[in-house]
Amino acid sequence: MVWLPLAKARKILQTPKSPKRLWAPWRIGYLVGTKNSSARGCFFCRIQHSALDAKNHLLTRGRRGFSVLNRFPYNNGHLLIAPYRHVGRLGSLTAEEWLDLLELSKDGLQRLKRVMSPHGYNLGINLGRSAGAGIPGHLHLHIVPRWVGDTNFMPIIAEMKVISQSLDSAYSSLKWSRKGHAKKVRRKPRH
Ligand SMILES: [Zn+2]
Repeated sequence: MVWLPLAKARKILQTPKSPKRLWAPWRIGYLVGTKNSSARGCFFCRIQHSALDAKNHLLTRGRRGFSVLNRFPYNNGHLLIAPYRHVGRLGSLTAEEWLDLLELSKDGLQRLKRVMSPHGYNLGINLGRSAGAGIPGHLHLHIVPRWVGDTNFMPIIAEMKVISQSLDSAYSSLKWSRKGHAKKVRRKPRH
C-alpha cells in the first residue's frame, strides 16, 4: 500500500473546477410565450410601433434598429439590439442595418459602462430556436454585462438567478445616462 501525504491526496480527490455558467431557468416563460415567429405577434415588431418606450424598456431608437432591455435577463442590464424589419437571417440584413446595429451596440455598451461599470460583456446572436433564439423570426443581438463573481450559489442550489436591480430602475438609469450628465448634476447643483 502506498500512503500519500494528506495534502497530495486531497489534491487528487478534488473535483476539477467546472466552467462557470449563467443559469437562466426563468427564461422558459419567455420561450413558451414567444412561439409565434411571424411579424404579427412579434415582440420586437410590436414595441417599435408603440409610443410607450419607457413601459416597453425601449432604450434607444436608431435609424434602422433599436435597443431594448431584455425582460428575462441573464444579468442586470441585459440588452437586445434588433433591426426594425422582421428578418431572421443574417443574410437578409442590409449594410445600413448592420451598421446601425453596431452603432446601437456601441451606444448600449457606453451606457452600461457609465451606469453599471461591468467588468466585461458577452455579445452574441442566437440563430434559430435550437441555438437558443427566443424569437427566431426577428434577428437580435444580445449584450450581457458581466461582473467577476456574478455566478453564485443561488442558481445552482435554488434554480434561481438573483437580478439585483428592477427592469424599471435599470431602464431609468441607462436611459438618462448621457455622457457627462451625472458629472454636470453633481458639479452644478441647483440652488
Ligand atoms: Zn418582428
